[in-house]
Amino acid sequence: MTATITVPDMRCVARECLARARNLLAKGDEPSVRYACLELRLTIEYITYDQLLAYLKEVPNDALKKWQPRHVISEMREVDPHADQSVSLAVGIEHTYGVPPPGEEMQMLGQDRRFSRKWANDNHNALGNFLHALTIHQIESGKTSNLAGMIKRAAAVADECEAILTSPIFRVNFGQFFEFQCQDCGEQIQRRAGSFTAEGGVKCPITNCQAVYDVEPGKGNEIIVHLRQVKYPCPSCDAENFVGKHRVLNGATAGCAKCGKTVRFKQGFSVEQV
Ligand SMILES: [Zn+2]
Ligand SMILES: [Zn+2]
Repeated sequence: MTATITVPDMRCVARECLARARNLLAKGDEPSVRYACLELRLTIEYITYDQLLAYLKEVPNDALKKWQPRHVISEMREVDPHADQSVSLAVGIEHTYGVPPPGEEMQMLGQDRRFSRKWANDNHNALGNFLHALTIHQIESGKTSNLAGMIKRAAAVADECEAILTSPIFRVNFGQFFEFQCQDCGEQIQRRAGSFTAEGGVKCPITNCQAVYDVEPGKGNEIIVHLRQVKYPCPSCDAENFVGKHRVLNGATAGCAKCGKTVRFKQGFSVEQV
């Protein structure tokens, strides 16, 4: 289950990459700057993975297999459209319950600084472009490696990554959440209000489950979830059975609730008059 995985401190690993990049950049020669670009690509990746940790309970398990920052950030944005935006935190004492204190009484705690999906993608790609040898065609066309451009780009990326990594606040994930247990696999599903459509429903994040639930408001802050099911009559005893729609796959089997016999779902073509 997603909640129990143990990973190294990604921010710490990112800081180590950044420190190596800074040292290499300071040398200023082309091979060193090239290696600095590689370390900075890793820094962007580790920062992105660290941010993903804030959304582990919400994103599908497959999101953890993705490595390109733009894909990882896209997964986070699926569950939180503001996942790639910086957020500032401030605290203050409410004089009246539910009424925020005036702005001058708020004490700024800091900022969870994040790069956007576009920034991460553009810079990850630009740094990657420096990690290739010039092709024979490029050499013949008179292209030379651009050391000054490489240094400029690398320094800008290092500055942004440093600003993110020195921020005392990180992995902020505020929202109105609801939680329920998957009836099929038992996974505890957490979702942010407004992060799904009525049509799409809420999907269990476990790769080999994928049960889909319809959600409707209940009393007060409660919600009611319904597993999307299909009905079928047992071919042996004719009893009415229900099965999660996600389990109705060609060749999959299920047991009849009344007589216990096994049925197999079969996909087929039929002909109709048009
Ligand atoms: Zn499930
Ligand atoms: Zn039956």
